Amino acid sequence: MSVVENVIVVGSGPSGYTAAIYLARAGLNPIVLTSSVEAGGALVNTTEVENFPGFPDGIQGPDLMENMRAQAERFGARIVYDDAVNVDLVSAVKTVRTGLGTAYQAHAVVLAMGSAYRKLDVPGEERLTGHGVSWCATCDGFFFRGKQVVVVGGGDSALEEAMFLTRFARVTLLHRRDTLRGSKIMQDRALATPGLSIRWNSEVVEAHGETTMTALTVRDTVTGTTDRIAADGLFIAIGHDPRSTLVQGQVHLDDDGYVRVEHPTTRTNLSGVFAAGDLVDNRYRQAITAAGSGCAAASDAEHYLASRGLATYPQEPAATDDAVQLA
Ligand code: NAP
Repeated sequence: MSVVENVIVVGSGPSGYTAAIYLARAGLNPIVLTSSVEAGGALVNTTEVENFPGFPDGIQGPDLMENMRAQAERFGARIVYDDAVNVDLVSAVKTVRTGLGTAYQAHAVVLAMGSAYRKLDVPGEERLTGHGVSWCATCDGFFFRGKQVVVVGGGDSALEEAMFLTRFARVTLLHRRDTLRGSKIMQDRALATPGLSIRWNSEVVEAHGETTMTALTVRDTVTGTTDRIAADGLFIAIGHDPRSTLVQGQVHLDDDGYVRVEHPTTRTNLSGVFAAGDLVDNRYRQAITAAGSGCAAASDAEHYLASRGLATYPQEPAATDDAVQLA
């Protein structure tokens, strides 16, 4: 039999898990669709997080996310390691279908799908992904022990990746301008890191290699001249794009694909649908701001359910297999 849940949270970064903590603690027994491969969101691919309040000695990104998941579950959130692949958010009762063929229904949905790594869109990038081209130094850095790697980007992510990779490899940070975008503290650290050199005013135009990457063609953004440099690894850290394709055509997006909300609330154009985190935020994009907006989304969803008399408060957590199994 189909059960109409109170609320479904789609996503499991700081915004999704924080929304889940608050919704669960309000007794609303949320379903949380974490995604099947990237539960915990982008922080799972980082190392030390030094600026999340409450951790004076820092905390590893994966540990922070594991703590958030455990905290949500402690209060009754039901964590489902599955992907939302199709949604009907327009109807009063919302439906979220998953990659494993389950259809969940709920009166409210919190969208917290975060953002995805941006690509360079150059020849060789896709073909050599996993064979020299990577978006995750903590995942893949070990494979480049004693080798030569290039990190592309000038923001905090690129600086962090580049510094981390010096543990294993000789690192060139390649940036398209002559000034970095990253924070002062990260810039100072990177510039003082042995084994890390910076190539300014440069962009990758092609990655070369048969079975693994061996070289890059690099263009000088000032003179336009190109040259070919030897490199075993290419780590791309040029920012993120919002993961909003799932809700395109239903939820209003801005020109860059971010979900539009009625600031300062997390309400979207659709009644009962709320959005939080990097899916919404083109400006701050910090774990703590994502967590804060996840809290706001939970509060908005809770108010929505309560004000319409839609909330139910199960004594025991409902079994997730009450959901509709699709043929
Ligand atoms: P970001 O700050 O948007 O920086 C992206 C960088 O990639 C910029 O330098 C940009 O160049 C470059 N870029 C973009 N598209 C490019 C392309 N097609 N080809 C070559 N270069 C390209 O993104 P981010 O570094 O991922 O950081 C996102 C947010 O997370 C920021 O708020 C950051 O502070 C935060 N963060 C914090 C930490 C930390 O504190 N430990 C770690 C990671 C991230 P331009 O400069 O020319 O635009």
